[in-house]
Amino acid sequence: MLLLKTECETCHAPLPNSGPDAYICTIECTFCESCTEETHKGFCPNCKGNLVLRPTRPQKFIEKYPQRDE
Ligand SMILES: [Zn+2]
Ligand SMILES: [Zn+2]
Repeated sequence: MLLLKTECETCHAPLPNSGPDAYICTIECTFCESCTEETHKGFCPNCKGNLVLRPTRPQKFIEKYPQRDE
């Protein structure tokens, strides 16, 4: 189960589940769109994996499995 972290690890912008612009790597380092594209150029600075658009979690699952950072 994805953690769906709550903020960008670089600039700490909030990244709610409903937002369209959260990116994750394979181990769930999480970044906003501008950090992903402009700062990191599509690759995770921690593990060097590629960053992809994070899927949103349907509301009925968010109630059961809320966003968390760890
Ligand atoms: Zn950011
Ligand atoms: Zn990573």
